[in-house]
Amino acid sequence: MKYEVVIGLEVHAQLLTNSKMFCSCSTKYGALPNSNVCPVCTGQPGTLPVLNSKAVEYAVRTALAFNCKVNHQSIFARKNYFYPDLPKGYQISQYDEPLAVQGIISISLSDGAQKSIGVTRVHLEEDAGKNIHDDHGSYVDFNRSGVPLVEIVSEPDMRSPQEAVSYFKKLRSILGCIETSGCNMEEGNLRCDANVSLMLKGSKKFGTKVEIKNLNSFRFLEKALSYEVQRQTELLDAGKTIEQETRLFDSVKGLTKSMRKKEEANDYRYFPEPDLAPLILDENYINKVRSSMPELPDAKKERLTTRYSLSDYDAEVISSDKDLAAYYEDLVSNGLEPKLSSNWIQTEVMRVLNERKQGILEFPISSKSLSELIKLVKEGKINQNTAKDVFNEMLNGGKNADQIVADKGLSQIQDESEIEKIVDQVIASSPEQVQQYKSGKTNLMGHFVGSVMKQSKGKANPQVVNAILKKKLG
Ligand code: ADP
Ligand code: MG
Ligand code: ZN
Repeated sequence: MKYEVVIGLEVHAQLLTNSKMFCSCSTKYGALPNSNVCPVCTGQPGTLPVLNSKAVEYAVRTALAFNCKVNHQSIFARKNYFYPDLPKGYQISQYDEPLAVQGIISISLSDGAQKSIGVTRVHLEEDAGKNIHDDHGSYVDFNRSGVPLVEIVSEPDMRSPQEAVSYFKKLRSILGCIETSGCNMEEGNLRCDANVSLMLKGSKKFGTKVEIKNLNSFRFLEKALSYEVQRQTELLDAGKTIEQETRLFDSVKGLTKSMRKKEEANDYRYFPEPDLAPLILDENYINKVRSSMPELPDAKKERLTTRYSLSDYDAEVISSDKDLAAYYEDLVSNGLEPKLSSNWIQTEVMRVLNERKQGILEFPISSKSLSELIKLVKEGKINQNTAKDVFNEMLNGGKNADQIVADKGLSQIQDESEIEKIVDQVIASSPEQVQQYKSGKTNLMGHFVGSVMKQSKGKANPQVVNAILKKKLG
């Protein structure tokens, strides 16, 4: 391709406060429409906003986690526009004096190298309500209006849809770690607008950007950006120009559609919010928030790599979720080898979590129970395949591995004479294959091992089976 892709993201994350940003209404998701509302968040005349200090604390924590410089003074501003879900006729946001600036989020590229993506700014703003359209008409639900958000704006530093996805994933992993946002993309509390443009390779001057609004999954982000890169490429190749505009992604059709021609900042007639004082945060306050910061994913990855000699890749997967990392470290502290523990987590455990769309906190097998199962394999009491069956059984009931193995008689057969009997049977029942094997078709070994394992109901020790077969077949 002769073009270089340029991408910048604007991410909105709902802060995990119990009450809204400027009133005491609940932020609880899924409440009856318009049940979490009051005169303030529905913009009644004569009401005044009161700033939620928890929202400020969470926003500062978020900014610090992205290595931002937190401003000692920031200013709330009115962003004016008219829309049914915005009862005041303006949104309280921050404009030319945001909460924090100049951060960095580091991402891993596909070849394992690290790349720093600049964070331009982090600011506080309130969410709008929600318009709902169905067959009977159009409705507005104000439960969401006034819910606190942070907006995290990146520099145009990403050079492919994949980098944009890595950035968004990393951002979510950090937010999850510092517990300032629920990061539930299905419930809409983490979403992003993606800005994308093309320029000729080697050029220094960015092309005209298009903004794709409200992407609420990693897959949609990737698809929308890929579609848009393709669309812009075709336009430029045909000698046309790109119009600056806002587009919407249609996830069913897999394409973007024009929503509106781009508005300029002055269309919003920003001005300082007269009902709120400047937000003053002194160094003491900022340091206090900083000192309560948990270990962040990058530091965790570093520590897992050195402490447990994990590969970069393994350490990254495990450190991306702090609860998963805690589960992992519990497994290791129960006496299992670090690499073996990591393998179990990345294969069996993560498979189940993905299938069930659950987090490790909802996983039914405790780290202690899982370590008992893995120990049975290590001690040769059961083989790897049986262990997977036992694992599946443990998922469904509350039984531990020992019980399941005993109840179902799954203990591995170690006894050589017992295994030898089965081997003899298999050899006796397949004279043709034995002949072929002896005349050089040695890859039939797999067939013999398989038959023996099958006859033993998967319980024979595979090493012993192999050894006996080799001896008998010569
Ligand atoms: P606007 O005022 O239109 O919102 P901003 O300068 O605030 O534009 O940038 C919004 C987002 O768009 C940022 O994430 C920024 O990195 C990104 N961006 C800016 N210019 C470009 C460009 N030419 N191509 C791609 N992304 C861009
Ligand atoms: Mg913007
Ligand atoms: Zn309210």
